[in-house]
Amino acid sequence: MYQLDAVHVSFGGVEALAPTSLSIAKGETLVLLGPSGSGKSTLLRCLIGLSPYDGTIRLDGAPVRDWRAVRRRLGYVIQEGGLFPHLSARGNVVLAAREFGWETSRIEARVMELAQLVGLDDEQLARFPAQLSGGQRQRVAMMRALMLGPDALLLDEPLSALDPVTRLRLAGELRDIFARLGMTVVMVTHSLREARFFGGRAILMRDGRIVQQGPVAELESAPADEFVAEFLAAES
Ligand code: ATP
Ligand code: MG
Repeated sequence: MYQLDAVHVSFGGVEALAPTSLSIAKGETLVLLGPSGSGKSTLLRCLIGLSPYDGTIRLDGAPVRDWRAVRRRLGYVIQEGGLFPHLSARGNVVLAAREFGWETSRIEARVMELAQLVGLDDEQLARFPAQLSGGQRQRVAMMRALMLGPDALLLDEPLSALDPVTRLRLAGELRDIFARLGMTVVMVTHSLREARFFGGRAILMRDGRIVQQGPVAELESAPADEFVAEFLAAES
């Protein structure tokens, strides 16, 4: 689905992402791991055209020039959800569909379908983000990201604001949802446990570079260097 060729990001001389080449297959679950400041969010933001990058990103073979045009095919969830506080949960979820001129009946049907998928009810959807728990807010953010039926979901530490119990429960539910939707998922996390849980390929980053990639179990059994071994030991 994605093909990155020498994608590179610097902010005023600071290299946030060294030239990186990477393929992401359709339907794949990819987890980005690494310490703070290692470039995980920068790489993820490249995948939705929110980081200014050099190099080429291809989506289904075609180099992306106009991110606004492709962004509707992509769902993005950030830490704490990033919901608009002045809109109800439902208002947040339906915003993009309204902008794209969906019929009310189609919007309603889609909201019902997604509410069921993430486990929220009408009463909860009527509330404002401040009146929901952290886990409920993340569910709303997930609904919003899924509303237009994206080809890929890009998640930046979507569970990190939650308590360990809620986090694990929601992780389990998300894993089921991803499996059911068969969608391409790229997820940033600090948690090795989460990375293990979601399975698939993990990418470990350090100082804006990919240090090692492969199934988490493979990273654990054959760390490429001392840094990988230490990171995995510290995070497990
Ligand atoms: P964390 O785990 O703390 O979220 P991260 O791995 O997501 O970290 P990034 O946010 O990608 O790290 O940041 C990578 C590097 O780029 C850091 O050194 C950061 O300070 C720098 N950086 C990121 N965004 C900007 C920006 N808009 N302007 C300047 N520097 C930036
Ligand atoms: Mg980050």
